[in-house]
Amino acid sequence: MSGVDGKVVVITGASSGIGAATAAELAGRGAAVVLGARRVDRLAATVTRIREAGGRAELHPVDVTARGDLEALVAFAVERFGRLDVLVGNAGVARIAPVADLDVADWDAMIDVNLRGVLYGIAAALPVFRGQGFGHLVTVVSTSGLKIVPTQAVYAGTKNAVRTVMEALRQESTDGVLRTTSVSPGYVRTELLDHIDDPAQRSQAQEAMAALGIEPEAVARAIAFAIEQPEDVEIGDITLRPTRQG
Ligand code: NDP
Repeated sequence: MSGVDGKVVVITGASSGIGAATAAELAGRGAAVVLGARRVDRLAATVTRIREAGGRAELHPVDVTARGDLEALVAFAVERFGRLDVLVGNAGVARIAPVADLDVADWDAMIDVNLRGVLYGIAAALPVFRGQGFGHLVTVVSTSGLKIVPTQAVYAGTKNAVRTVMEALRQESTDGVLRTTSVSPGYVRTELLDHIDDPAQRSQAQEAMAALGIEPEAVARAIAFAIEQPEDVEIGDITLRPTRQG
């Protein structure tokens, strides 16, 4: 099946930012979307918005650091809509600080959400994709992994680890069943940097995002572009950044 219309798409981290925009974009193009994250009230608001616009959307609470939550999310989508066409592994956290600050709890959080969470999603979706004979994994990585800069060591490391997993998985999956796509955004105006602990680091990062950031809908359109291709076309990598970003 090509196009977006009629596809069943699970999106993690759909309670805000890029995930919520992607859910709305894909539902607007006729996909049935299942939104996963921890903040259920935020998920519910987006589901309501999509339904009021005539779209099909469901929510399922998920903490991506728990493998069982990802399995339950995928099972819910299959039970509700009969199959799974795409898993968008989008949930992520960014804790920006120099390595020498030794914010080990933040390192663990980024590894758990950005890397382990994506792997758990792959582990949940792959058996379904193999059983159906089709499926598409989309992950949201970052330009942070492409241009290495100070203060983003562990964040970029988790994103590049995911990039590596996706490329190996692509090479292991040339039988036509699985498509893999890694999307690397630059600055996008979301809540991502609001959770940085250090006030100076936080305001510096927020200022850069406010000055440069593009809207999350731009990333949503890039994800839709990858999904809408015919089954024999795999969009492996997409990089999109603000035109003025260095
Ligand atoms: P947001 O902070 O708006 O969204 C992050 C999402 O991840 C939220 O929906 C949050 O939901 C979810 N999340 C965080 N931890 C967990 C968890 N343990 N389990 C389930 N969901 C979780 O930021 P963005 O939209 O910007 O981030 C989306 C992705 O885009 C991330 O992977 C980020 O790294 C990436 N990215 C963002 C860029 C930017 O400039 N904004 C640039 C490049 C990449 P909840 O808290 O409700 O669980």
